[in-house]
Amino acid sequence: MTISLSSPDIGELELLYVNSALRSRSLSLGPWLQRFEDRIAEYTGAHYAVAVNSGTSALHLCVRAMGIGPGDEVITTGFSFVASVNCLLYEGAHPVFVDIDLDTFNIDPDKIREFLAEDCTRSRDGRVIHRATSRTVKAILPVHVFGLPCDMDAIAAIAKEYGLGILEDACEAFGTRLSARYAGTFGDAGVFAFYPNKQITTAEGGVVVTDDARIAEECRSMRNQGRDADGQWLRHVRLGFNYRLSELHCALGAAQLDRADELLAMRRGVAAQYNIQLRAESHIHLPVSIPAVTKSWFAYVIQLRNGPGSAFRDRIRERLRQQGVPSQVYFPTIYSEPYFEPYLETLPRKLPHTERAAETCMALPFSSVLTEGEVRTVCTELSNALDGEVHGEQAVAAAPGA
Ligand SMILES: *Cc1c(COP(=O)(O)O)cnc(C)c1O
Repeated sequence: MTISLSSPDIGELELLYVNSALRSRSLSLGPWLQRFEDRIAEYTGAHYAVAVNSGTSALHLCVRAMGIGPGDEVITTGFSFVASVNCLLYEGAHPVFVDIDLDTFNIDPDKIREFLAEDCTRSRDGRVIHRATSRTVKAILPVHVFGLPCDMDAIAAIAKEYGLGILEDACEAFGTRLSARYAGTFGDAGVFAFYPNKQITTAEGGVVVTDDARIAEECRSMRNQGRDADGQWLRHVRLGFNYRLSELHCALGAAQLDRADELLAMRRGVAAQYNIQLRAESHIHLPVSIPAVTKSWFAYVIQLRNGPGSAFRDRIRERLRQQGVPSQVYFPTIYSEPYFEPYLETLPRKLPHTERAAETCMALPFSSVLTEGEVRTVCTELSNALDGEVHGEQAVAAAPGA
């Protein structure tokens, strides 16, 4: 049996709902879309939900609906999946990266404050201007990395003080709660994604959640070629896209939502097994927990302690690979990706924690269908790999002439 890095959890209910959608012959903009959106809103407590064909599309529509455009800057993290930055680049806006907290891997509110206080001024009409670029800073785009929520109270306070918008990338945090409130519902708009490795899946898909009727309406229109709410098929009131989510995808999502509590509990159970079996390992940091937070687990990501650089992590990954255990680098920094080179002028500051996280983090196999035996195998192989590497390094260091 090969162990998968991630896996969707598809049961009879999913087959039943998708079958029913197919047989209905209403394959787009039908009752399953309505049901899926209603259930998302109900589950998260958001007023409005607008389902689209990917998390990336959802982010893109939010950026446009929030009026973030050419020459604007948005404060965000470089330790994320590329989509959280690409949604800005699509619109000619610029990411400003500030550093992360090395325990949570999330954007550090103190670093946001530092950037605003030291690098920005206020224009006479109250806008925040980044001095080095003369551009307007419009918003903060926090990403709840691996399902652990950012410090949204602190971020909301900063946004309020400086008059900035908040777009929450909660693509990895469906079901995460901070006190009683769901991640994704703290900002002007929030986004969830439903790719097959996420907590719940629609195969491909995403959703915008917001309490703002105007943002919801604009996103709804833009996903459907800029059509108006009146339903006229060949009247387009704004530039739109085809970001629609089909009835089959919505039916799949509706089944996953019916099972959401079960799926999240199973993921929590797998994470708990990892926590127990790995707690005695001295060369890794396990995921942290935060008081008052109910984390919905997207991935199980550990941080290797040895360094500097990524060599130790990479050798551990290679040893695991040789034993048939897959792992992933979550994440390389976005700004080090080849495509980002033309945008590098926007890199303002040193980001030591972001760099460190990218060098030392790795995701272990994780899903709701991972068995106890598989978790045990991963942990045993990881222990062996760590033992082998650590003793190997000591042997090299102790060797004469080394
Ligand atoms: C998955 C993900 C997205 C969106 O991904 P899609 O594949 O477009 O659905 C965006 N941001 C983050 C941080 C993600 O993990």
